[in-house]
Amino acid sequence: MTVTKNETTVLKNFINGQWVESSGTETLDVPNPATGEVLARVPISTQEDVEKAVQAAKKAFETWKNTPVPKRARIMFKFHHLLNEHHEELARLIVQENGKAYKEAYGEIQRGIECVEFAAGAPTLMMGESLSGIAEDIDSEMFRYPLGVVGGITPFNFPMMVPLWMFPLAIACGNTFVLKPSERTPILANKLAELFTQAGAPEGVLNVVHGAHDVVNALIDHEDIRAISFVGSQPVAKYVYERAAAQGKRVQALSGAKNHHIIMPDADIEIAAQHIISSAFGSAGQRCMACSAVVVVGENDKFVKVLKQKADELIVGNGMDEEVLLTPVIRQSHREKVLGYIQKGIEEGAILIRDGRKEMDEMTEGNFLGPTIFDHVIPDMTIAKEEIFAPVLSLLRAEDLDEALEYIRKSRYGNGATIYTKDAKAIRKFREEADAGMLGINVGVPATMAFFPFSGWKDSFYGDLHVNGKDGVNFYTRKKMITSRFDF
Ligand code: NAD
Repeated sequence: MTVTKNETTVLKNFINGQWVESSGTETLDVPNPATGEVLARVPISTQEDVEKAVQAAKKAFETWKNTPVPKRARIMFKFHHLLNEHHEELARLIVQENGKAYKEAYGEIQRGIECVEFAAGAPTLMMGESLSGIAEDIDSEMFRYPLGVVGGITPFNFPMMVPLWMFPLAIACGNTFVLKPSERTPILANKLAELFTQAGAPEGVLNVVHGAHDVVNALIDHEDIRAISFVGSQPVAKYVYERAAAQGKRVQALSGAKNHHIIMPDADIEIAAQHIISSAFGSAGQRCMACSAVVVVGENDKFVKVLKQKADELIVGNGMDEEVLLTPVIRQSHREKVLGYIQKGIEEGAILIRDGRKEMDEMTEGNFLGPTIFDHVIPDMTIAKEEIFAPVLSLLRAEDLDEALEYIRKSRYGNGATIYTKDAKAIRKFREEADAGMLGINVGVPATMAFFPFSGWKDSFYGDLHVNGKDGVNFYTRKKMITSRFDF
């Protein structure tokens, strides 16, 4: 819903170390997904706002790139300290604007803090390489340099962790940054900018411009932006990748997912079902590493029965409630789209064994949808192919591991996959043949930590160098080679 400025708080942009009003006239509501209460309004910023932010970042780069690396790292240590100090407050903010459970939000912050820890290692991470004697009296050295101004565009589902995948490492490597947070969860980004400034970041090093498509396009098209880090849905990731790459920019665009979990006949049913419940329904299924398709190998109706029973026992509600696991989806419009998928699943012949529309009808406020499970889904059905990004789980049946792996191979996405088994041979086959970039062996959410690349494959990622780990350092730096002759 679009409203005019003058009601509730309109968020400000953060440009050149100052909180400034957007020059745009439009704003969007930021409602709490569990209650509908409008928490703030987010401005739809303009090209003019982006221009100011990029100019501030460009100017700051001139000094920041020459700031000694250990000094840059020290700011990360202070930022780390502040994030820890504000851990609970940040978690509450995430619950309010995103809707996820407090425990999930707390964990998200921990994951974000680990990115700052990693970035604080910049003096080691940025080290080059050298080799003396590449020929007689000739040595070679490689140094790393920052790129310049980097643009970051983030999704609604991890308002803290995803921005922290990007700006701490980019900035520790000597770049300056313009962040465009999701317009659906924009509040936390301002808190991050506030804490980063308190940690000692000079003006212009981190800038935040709120808004939607126009801000994204202005960042992609700006000649002073050297690289774009993007995380979001598949069509937008592909669009951002193609548009920015066509202009010669470095791009890493993390995209949608359809993560398969294989249940082998020897799997511990209780444990596997518990992991799948929390992977598929935690954060209302709105995680890029959520389990959204289970492949049951062999006749295993017992597993299906246990899974359904656990889904029935789930508590649906407001994320501030401690025992709640299943929280609301982000917007009513998203829930409408999900209802369309449920209808499609029924029409295409899948068997709805657990209907989450029951809880939806019982809850009068908030964008709730109960756990929904389809059985006997086949790979060609829409619900098996598309990312639904909601608490809707598909169960597919396979005769053996080969057939299960074939389902994963057929999927256009390749973010994650998991196998539940104790069979070493099956584990090795899965590790070698599963066509996805982040695998779990008896692990419900095999998301990698900050020191490893977040390595989605196929349509789950566009680009070459992933976020985090050494890939992240390579993405945010360019290399210079020096060859020196000493026979004078
Ligand atoms: P989204 O694509 O709607 O939005 C992401 C960002 O792109 C936002 O900042 C938004 O303002 C901007 N945007 C949206 N439409 C645009 C357009 N047409 N032109 C230009 N910019 C546009 O994604 P979302 O719904 O916020 O996030 C959920 C998606 O993100 C899911 O598909 C999920 O799988 C994906 N995701 C992927 C990863 C990963 O690591 N692969 C991690 C988190 C989320």
